[in-house]
Amino acid sequence: DQKAVADIGLIGLAVMGQNLILNMNDKGFVVCAYNRTVSKVDQFLENEAKGTNVVGAHSIEELCAKLKRPRKVMMLVKAGQAVDDFIEQIIPYLEPGDIIIDGGNSHFPDSIRRTKYLESKGLLFVGAGVSGGEEGARHGPSIMPGGSPKAWESLKPIFQAAAAKTDGEPCCDWVGEDGAGHYVKMVHNGIEYGDMQLISETYQIMKEGLGLSHDEMAAVFDTWNKGELDSYLIEITRDILKYRDTDGTPLVEKIRDTAGQKGTGKWTAIDALDRGIPLTLVGEAVFSRCLSSLKEERQHASKLLPGPQGKFTGDKHKFLDQLGQALYAAKIVSYAQGFMLMRQAAKENNWNLNNAGIALMWRGGCIIRSVFLGKIKDAYTNKPDLENILFDPFFRDAVTKAQDAWRAVISNAVLMGIPTPALSTALNFYDGLRHERLPANLLQAQRDYFGAHTYELDDQPGQWVHTNWTGRG
Ligand code: NAP
Repeated sequence: DQKAVADIGLIGLAVMGQNLILNMNDKGFVVCAYNRTVSKVDQFLENEAKGTNVVGAHSIEELCAKLKRPRKVMMLVKAGQAVDDFIEQIIPYLEPGDIIIDGGNSHFPDSIRRTKYLESKGLLFVGAGVSGGEEGARHGPSIMPGGSPKAWESLKPIFQAAAAKTDGEPCCDWVGEDGAGHYVKMVHNGIEYGDMQLISETYQIMKEGLGLSHDEMAAVFDTWNKGELDSYLIEITRDILKYRDTDGTPLVEKIRDTAGQKGTGKWTAIDALDRGIPLTLVGEAVFSRCLSSLKEERQHASKLLPGPQGKFTGDKHKFLDQLGQALYAAKIVSYAQGFMLMRQAAKENNWNLNNAGIALMWRGGCIIRSVFLGKIKDAYTNKPDLENILFDPFFRDAVTKAQDAWRAVISNAVLMGIPTPALSTALNFYDGLRHERLPANLLQAQRDYFGAHTYELDDQPGQWVHTNWTGRG
């Protein structure tokens, strides 16, 4: 019974763990399952895993004894203390070269710490971001592994077999050292917040400004899903808008408009602030969720604060086309910002991030999967040291083409009094980036005026000057 029969061990039999085990089993790997509440092991073997090659363990000792070497133990448990607790429990049963993998949504500094800790004990650690939810885990998620590079060789066949495939290529490749995998997963989640917010803003404009019915809105998303916006989130939005409750009315309108969040978008925004990178769209997406959850205050404000409640009076058909273009342009900016952030993080952490590989990992399997990511992969394949996605000829042309429409949509929304925080901040970023001169000269003068913070002159960089602005002594 204690023979080393399994290719990999998996701890955590909630939705992600169970589905990933069944997925790996389908690909011909023998998986040994374990869970803190041990009764779930037999329940799983007798039900979901019945008739498969999955084996079970009722203790960590038994789990490790059943693993082929180098042992690979993957956790899909709640992020945080549970991961550290399991690491401590597993260590005594491992030997040098064995691998512990954390597939949960852990924060990357924890993965940096855990890599160092396990490597100090001669073991290997991999922090792997897994995206795609339940469905992805079962049929092919996007997997973003980083950590001890030596672990990759023996994990690669299992992870790449289980991962989603696009154009025959697995949506899983080595991301980089220590926390790089979880970092890239975190940025993925931040971008997911941005994509969802952008889509939600177009929905509000269509519903409030244009007065479209749910079927009409679903039809717009269906059209968008056949073009450059083709993506999982556009597709599910179409289906959500079409979905009727038992009384025949759209279910979405019965859902309380307060957004939840588990924190990965906030982590991304905080990280961007820490590194000084203007990740404005994800920031606005997180703040928009915060504003949505101030429901009572908004209820008061809706009765107190005046503003336009205009309806669009022009050519609706043309406006809907412009709306799609605005969404596309803002999305390009969001991804440009996300890759700017990853570039800075890579520099600060000495990670050698492969941008084309990241775009490929996000191209399929995960929540932000889209045709668009194939274009980002092409951009970085053509020019691996591309300074900014917006400088790639394809994306520069796309934004150039879309920008009149983008400006028209935002102007109309402003006049109608409909909020567009993400669509607008993207345009503001775009206009800021393309200004060789910004008003920060005035800002520097103000800082020097009240705080003697000094400033540099354009023609004498590096020399810090102070002016006595008031002439007083
Ligand atoms: P989950 O609800 O996040 O976690 C449940 C699992 O964690 C159970 O196996 C549970 O064991 C174990 N657990 C919880 N607290 C524990 C503790 N203090 N000590 C030991 N074990 C503990 O499960 P999930 O939704 O399948 O997600 C697993 C991981 O993947 C999480 O990190 C999650 O953030 C990430 N993730 C989830 C999704 C998704 O769509 N759900 C997508 C991507 C990533 P018991 O059965 O004993 O309670």
